[in-house]
Amino acid sequence: MSYFDSIDPKPDFPKMERELLEHWYSDGIVDKYLKKNKDSEKYFSFQDGPITANNPMGVHHAWGRTYKDLWPRFKSMQGFRQRHQNGFDCQGLWVEVEVEKEQGFKNKKDIEKFGVAKFVELCKERVKKYSSIQTEQSKRLGYFADWDNSYYTLSDDNNYMIWHFLKVVHENGWLYKGNDSVPWCPRCETAISQHEMLTEDYKEAVHESIYMKFPIVDSDENLLVWTTTPWTIPANIAVAVDKKLDYVLAEVDGTKYWLADEAKERVFAGLDFKVVKKVKGSELVGLHYTGAFDNLPAVSEVAKENSEKFHIVVATNDLIMPITTTEGTGMVHTAVSAGTEDFKLGKELGLPMILVINDDASYMEGFDELSGQNAKWHPRIILDIMEAKGFAFKIEKYAHRYPACWRCKTELVWKVTDEWYIAMDSGKPSLRERMKGNTKKINWIPEFGLKRELDWLNNMHDWLISKKNRYWGLALPIWECTSCGNFDVIGGKEELKEKSVSGWDKMDGKSPHKPQIDEVKMKCSKCGELSSRIEPVGNPWLDAGIVQYSTISSNNKASGFNVSSTKPLYLTDKKEWEKWFPVDFITESFPGQFKNWFYSMIAMSTVLENKNPFKTVLGFATQLGEDGRAMHKSWGNAIEFNEAADKIGSDVMRWMFVRQDPAQNMLFGYKIADETRRQFHLKLWNIYNFFVTYANSDSWSPASSQATVHSSQILDKWVLIRLNETVKSVTDNLEKFDPYNSSGSIDVFVDDLSLWYIRRSRDRKDNNFYSTTYEVLVTLSKLLAPFIPFLTDIMYTNLTKEESVHLASWPVSNPLSNQDSNLLSEMQIVREIVEIGHSLRKENNIPVRQPLRELRIKNEEIKIREVEQILLDELNIKSIKYGQTENKLNLEITPELKEEADTRDLIRKIQAARKEIGTALNDRIKVTTPWIPIDKKMLEFLKTKTLCDVLELGELNVTKI
Ligand SMILES: [Zn+2]
Ligand SMILES: [Zn+2]
Repeated sequence: MSYFDSIDPKPDFPKMERELLEHWYSDGIVDKYLKKNKDSEKYFSFQDGPITANNPMGVHHAWGRTYKDLWPRFKSMQGFRQRHQNGFDCQGLWVEVEVEKEQGFKNKKDIEKFGVAKFVELCKERVKKYSSIQTEQSKRLGYFADWDNSYYTLSDDNNYMIWHFLKVVHENGWLYKGNDSVPWCPRCETAISQHEMLTEDYKEAVHESIYMKFPIVDSDENLLVWTTTPWTIPANIAVAVDKKLDYVLAEVDGTKYWLADEAKERVFAGLDFKVVKKVKGSELVGLHYTGAFDNLPAVSEVAKENSEKFHIVVATNDLIMPITTTEGTGMVHTAVSAGTEDFKLGKELGLPMILVINDDASYMEGFDELSGQNAKWHPRIILDIMEAKGFAFKIEKYAHRYPACWRCKTELVWKVTDEWYIAMDSGKPSLRERMKGNTKKINWIPEFGLKRELDWLNNMHDWLISKKNRYWGLALPIWECTSCGNFDVIGGKEELKEKSVSGWDKMDGKSPHKPQIDEVKMKCSKCGELSSRIEPVGNPWLDAGIVQYSTISSNNKASGFNVSSTKPLYLTDKKEWEKWFPVDFITESFPGQFKNWFYSMIAMSTVLENKNPFKTVLGFATQLGEDGRAMHKSWGNAIEFNEAADKIGSDVMRWMFVRQDPAQNMLFGYKIADETRRQFHLKLWNIYNFFVTYANSDSWSPASSQATVHSSQILDKWVLIRLNETVKSVTDNLEKFDPYNSSGSIDVFVDDLSLWYIRRSRDRKDNNFYSTTYEVLVTLSKLLAPFIPFLTDIMYTNLTKEESVHLASWPVSNPLSNQDSNLLSEMQIVREIVEIGHSLRKENNIPVRQPLRELRIKNEEIKIREVEQILLDELNIKSIKYGQTENKLNLEITPELKEEADTRDLIRKIQAARKEIGTALNDRIKVTTPWIPIDKKMLEFLKTKTLCDVLELGELNVTKI
């Protein structure tokens, strides 16, 4: 009976993977893997960044998740104790918006009508549904984790730990309520923080822009002012100019306009104009003008109370609002309530403001016919009025990148609102400075990550943490007193219970979410009056940033804890917690995370421990379709994870991910997948198939060989040294968190194995060959196990008859001796010479089977005799001369060489005929042939090779004797 199970030469990888998966889970392999190192004293702390549990996985998720599985597997084989915990991000706008879509809700009034408690339940259900789909998909990817113990950011532990954090922020004096003009989504009716405004959320949009004509009071001159956001015109308070810039008064069709000198040609292109006057901007400061909406009650009220500072020309502050002349007129429309810069400039100059829009971007009361109209959706209303009243110089289309809500893609507006912030610059050192210090302690891969994070930290404003008008999210633990304005921050569940004066009964046994949390009332710590929780929920990045505090807990069965408490170790056993913190490793897609997850992790760990939260981060770029475009469902190049798993299998996907330089954008598609499978998986499979087939037919098994005695055959020696070298390189690169170069050394080794070792060993079916190849394949399965867990387990279990490669130990490399290195480098030179030799043969049209006498070569001498013999055999030449001035083959075919070629040719024909008539390996034969070698040596050679006893002239014919 054969020792090895026979192998399908045409493997169906996806099918084999599905069967293996079933075995892993039903036969307890995963469980054994998770508990393998639970008593180890070596810790490897990987922290999973939570995946948004809101939709099924796409193939881009599988990229990061391959890394998230690769390193824990590697460390598990090395004997490290781990948590093996996966996480789900559960709270926030992303879930709300999907539930709203499901229910057909248009705005927040629909949610209120439906009932907040019911709505929150639906959000929870959605998260539950998709987290379980994502779990199954992750398993299908071959990801081993403690799936029953995944963490959810909606958990009480997570929410209360953020409360603890916010309380410490408050104790440091960094939490405050600020009033500002902020980006605002009119559909979600909530503020969009600077963190959430990612480059990819800006969209190409075409808006109507208007050149406005503002008549200067008591004069026949006008200001020419440009804006791309007509809806903000009723909020206009001032026109800003640059004091140092040249402005001109230009006359067009008898009307005079002020604008920047450098802008006039562009603005008046095609018109006849003449310059009447030229002054510095400073001379225009203080002029008053009139606007188109001055008669509206809301506007005239502000004008009346602030006549000195209303509709006035002001000088800008370059640091707040720099003025350029490449667009517009160099005179800038300043709507204090409707722009970040406008608001800042207004604050510095003490300008009043006109609040114009409600939360849904409809005009407020006091704007006559505008009131109730949506400002963003109907720019024409404003433009019509401007034209009708003679305030429009010209209106033209303007294409620009305009920010949209990251969740619902609605274009944003700017709105003045009270929000809660964490101050970045108060105290010494400030939070900003401390965070920068901790950021520098992190090992950023790729290196540019450090600069990107520091750039963000240098430029970001205070952290806006509140989300108004939303329901499903962290309940900010701030209780505000309406009598005296004081606010108290609650640090946890016990404190909440202790300080509540009413409403606790509505909360007891429930999670700290809306609406029940809002029932809890307290006494103001300052004046003793009743205080209520503030209305907003929290920024979702608080949820993900706290996880290294909230998820390291005694619940983690894989980590080997056996503590009765289920609370986070950070609060119950800090010494044990410190063994896991700072976490050793995280990995996420770079775009976006500098402002979000990396930022919030660093912020929270800086506040709580003043430490870097993680030691190493491996970032990776963006996945694109095979056509180089972003993946979009509507473009037909997006691929769902399940589809890819069914079609190409997980190992092929995983190998595509690890063979990708993480710093570069990745192209993903089925053509590349096919190529990958052909170039790697099938090559490996063919080697494995070759070995098993011949070992079985020769009844070879590891037990039948003396596996500890290494072959002295030079090729065997060489391949084992190459294997050892590969073990070292893969290990070193994995220790450096480098997926690309670690998988790269395996790729090269498999090529060497296939194209050189197996190829040069085709004729050898001896014990040395089998035991060497066996050792190579077993070690290679272990080396590859973290990268492609399916194929390697199939190979390993068949070869070794052990339970699983995933319960095996990581191979250890030996130091290379000088002799080893010599052999490697000589073999390398041989392979170079072989290439030269083959190409010379090709140039001269002489096939390899024709022996030649000599090759002259520029390379230095090959000193190891056996290595040189490989070279001579491969090129079929008699001798080689080194150190020559040029590479050259001796092309002379002597009668002897001709006879040798003919003899070999004849041998090949006889062997083929033997096969045809079905002789056994040791059957003797009789041959008739039209040609018989004259040379005695050749004749003997032919007879021995073919087991031929009788050789006669005649037509080619072979018969058994
Ligand atoms: Zn929105
Ligand atoms: Zn009070």
